[in-house]
Amino acid sequence: MFIGGRWISGSGGKSDVINPFDRSVVAQVDHADTGDVHAAVVAARQAFGDWARTPTRERAALLARVADLLVRDKDTIARTETLDTGKTLVESGLDVDDVVAVFRYYAAIADSDPGRLVDTGQPTVVSRVVYEPVGVCALITPWNYPLLQIAWKVAPALAAGNTVVIKPSEVTPLTTIRLVELLAEAGAPDGVVNLVLGGGPVGAALVEHLDVDLVSFTGGVATGKAILRAAADTVKRVTVELGGKNPNIVFADSDFETVVDYALTAVFLHSGQVCSAGARLLVEEPLHDALVAEVAARAERIVIGNGLDPASETGPLVSAAHRDKVEAYVAAGIASGARLVAGGRRPDDPALADGFFYRPTVFDGCRADMRIVREETFGPLLTVETFTSEASALALANDTEYGLAGAVWTSDAARAERVARGLRAGTVWINDYHPYVPQAEWGGFKQSGNGRELGPSGLAEYREAKHIWQNTAPAPQRWFKG
Ligand code: NAD
Repeated sequence: MFIGGRWISGSGGKSDVINPFDRSVVAQVDHADTGDVHAAVVAARQAFGDWARTPTRERAALLARVADLLVRDKDTIARTETLDTGKTLVESGLDVDDVVAVFRYYAAIADSDPGRLVDTGQPTVVSRVVYEPVGVCALITPWNYPLLQIAWKVAPALAAGNTVVIKPSEVTPLTTIRLVELLAEAGAPDGVVNLVLGGGPVGAALVEHLDVDLVSFTGGVATGKAILRAAADTVKRVTVELGGKNPNIVFADSDFETVVDYALTAVFLHSGQVCSAGARLLVEEPLHDALVAEVAARAERIVIGNGLDPASETGPLVSAAHRDKVEAYVAAGIASGARLVAGGRRPDDPALADGFFYRPTVFDGCRADMRIVREETFGPLLTVETFTSEASALALANDTEYGLAGAVWTSDAARAERVARGLRAGTVWINDYHPYVPQAEWGGFKQSGNGRELGPSGLAEYREAKHIWQNTAPAPQRWFKG
């Protein structure tokens, strides 16, 4: 762990980091106890004043140096991410590229909004709104995009002048540890960036800590709700980026080859362990039979394997427990009457027997009341529903507690616009799926979360607005006459 500029052992035991491809032990990491968490918060608090007063351009320069170091170390970091998460090396490399772009973006906009003068109409008054950092921020991340998720938080937090205590997932902590090393190498002053390792109790200790001002959390809905409840006791600022059950809506006027292709990448990228995965395919009735047949046939041909093997198109699930969960959903889908048209099993290849692999799976004939349609499975599981009108497509798409992302496919521009505006989700793609850029906000409607990451709003989450009113000609007011 990294506390106050020093690498130290944790006092809360140890755990193994497992390669999901073959269950080999990649590393062993320490866990924090509540004393370690407290020490990290104290270090962050001590560093806060100086860092908050550091000129913004110097804080931005630190972020730019981190981006350069990530470029320098891209290959080893990508390899580590693959060993830790199981995702393919191509995906891990793209994650590093995206993270570089995020650090550069926040370096570029760090001083773009110095505040504003307010016209009060009173000539003897100067009224200003200035932005200040929130304070000590706890940054808690999940296992599916470890490096990416922490970058979305730490770059804007530091740009705004906060100090941070980072807590990655206990399942995939390795690239976050590496990023903290790079932040130190880039010159982050002692105590500005702190790292504690461990599971839920370590995160909970941060959320409950009296001297943590803000919690930024990405993870599951149940954990997010627990954090919102716990943070209420100390009225912390909380941003939660939670799950999704995202609709991918295909109208019959779409290009067939293209929608088949994207239906697959929307859901099976990273074996479905993507919060914005297009897990619900909604198909206009005339296209249904042909589209399902082709999507199922191509799903059966997806090559799964070791993420380090360039031949692999997607990797394993992250853990045995997570695969158990996905298998339980497949059993629930069959029990509820959905028709299994692809996958629904572990791979036969004996070379994959030690890994947490599961074949890409497609269920046709799904209904909105089925658990596999309503709940986030977070695995390689696609459900197909059919619609007959634009209104019913939107109604089906929005019939969910979630609202993270969604897509619409059509060659009718006016319809694309109507559906995009009608979807209750934080990101909508028209005739595309998955791309995002650091300049545009990311976050959820409804139970997919509150607050936004990325874009200018992602920086605003880490700032307090302060109004400074200055009377330049003070004189007795005589409100009270006596
Ligand atoms: P999780 O909620 O189990 O854990 C996330 C993090 O919270 C981990 O670091 C964990 O140790 C910590 N944690 C657990 N209990 C805690 C508590 N009581 N207090 C504080 N911290 C606690 O999620 P996961 O299984 O690691 O990740 C998968 C989930 O993340 C999925 O639901 C997925 O949709 C979501 N996710 C969302 C986004 C997004 O941008 N909306 C992005 C990626 C992942």
